[in-house]
Amino acid sequence: MGRKKEDFPEYFLKNVKKPVMTSVSLRDYSNFKIGGNADYFFEANSVHELVTAVLCAREVSIPLYIIGGGYNLLFDDNGFRGLIIKNAVKGISRRENSPEVNAFVGTPLEDLLRFSVEQALSGLEFIAGIPGTIGGAVFGNAGAFKQSIGEFVKEGLLLDQSGEQVQVGRDYFEFRYRHSILKKKHELLLKVVFELHDGDKESIQKLIEENLETRKEKHPHHDLLCAGSYFKNPVLPDGRIVPAAHFLEKVGAKTMKVGGAAVYSGHSNFIINQENALAKDVFRLAQELKQRVKERFDVELEEEVIFLPASPSTP
Ligand SMILES: Cc1cc2nc3c(=O)[nH]c(=O)nc-3n(C[C@H](O)[C@H](O)[C@H](O)COP(=O)(O)OP(=O)(O)OC[C@H]3O[C@@H](n4cnc5c(N)ncnc54)[C@H](O)[C@@H]3O)c2cc1C
Repeated sequence: MGRKKEDFPEYFLKNVKKPVMTSVSLRDYSNFKIGGNADYFFEANSVHELVTAVLCAREVSIPLYIIGGGYNLLFDDNGFRGLIIKNAVKGISRRENSPEVNAFVGTPLEDLLRFSVEQALSGLEFIAGIPGTIGGAVFGNAGAFKQSIGEFVKEGLLLDQSGEQVQVGRDYFEFRYRHSILKKKHELLLKVVFELHDGDKESIQKLIEENLETRKEKHPHHDLLCAGSYFKNPVLPDGRIVPAAHFLEKVGAKTMKVGGAAVYSGHSNFIINQENALAKDVFRLAQELKQRVKERFDVELEEEVIFLPASPSTP
């Protein structure tokens, strides 16, 4: 006989040694500021807490979802019928006499970049201004300026479905444009080793500032309520990657609005929570945009923003 779901908080406390929170509003954990309540919520501050919390949810068959900074997520208006774990496990160190950096993946990208500058390690300047944690960035192979984080991942430490911690190399992740194997396998990433190269502090800092300046012209600041580019840039049959905004612009996206959700006036690939938007407003607006682009250009846009339904079919 498995454990009873109603005993979950008690079982969690006994094993994790910290209480699980109940009925927590998810809007506070997504940059969209949208979403209902999660049945259970826990913020993990050590690998031990993180792994034990995951194993407890699996043991009691409670649906489980890991979040980092919530900068690429849209939560359901009905919240989540299960446990949301916020990975807040942070820490970065450099391997001795080597341009390699070890990091716990709850570390914000901003801290990783600051560390690289301090250590005069070059490679990651393109992530300047991308909000979120390393875990979220590796999951979606985040990038900018034609570079993505996966290019710099040497190894990763995963918690697999059987609860084992496994070390994997870069090839395992199958990185491609805004994709990694984690999107298919739903394994939990715990740690990453980045392979950077020795550089010059001033040049690294200068490139970061240039990148931030370029972003300022093109992207909304992350205090705007959104989850970054809403759609991936489509790959055309001839292999060219064309900005989704190119198509969206031409179908009049910038003037479109559904309920409290609107397309950002400065960039047609950003849907924003303009005024108390619901997830269903964002959804309907996105559907309308997709349909217009399909009808006019025969191009199928695919969401980059991840929607978490209240009741996922797979925990
Ligand atoms: C203003 C703005 C600008 C942005 N600009 C860019 C940009 O230029 N380029 C770009 O690529 N993105 C951009 N984004 C999107 C976002 O910043 C990135 O996707 C970022 O990497 C998300 O990290 P996160 O920690 O917030 O992930 P979350 O949103 O919390 O999670 C995203 C996904 O990652 C999974 N995940 C998180 N941690 C782990 C883990 N440890 N193991 C397994 N899975 C995990 C989650 O389950 C979820 O499915 C932007 C967003 C905003 C709001």
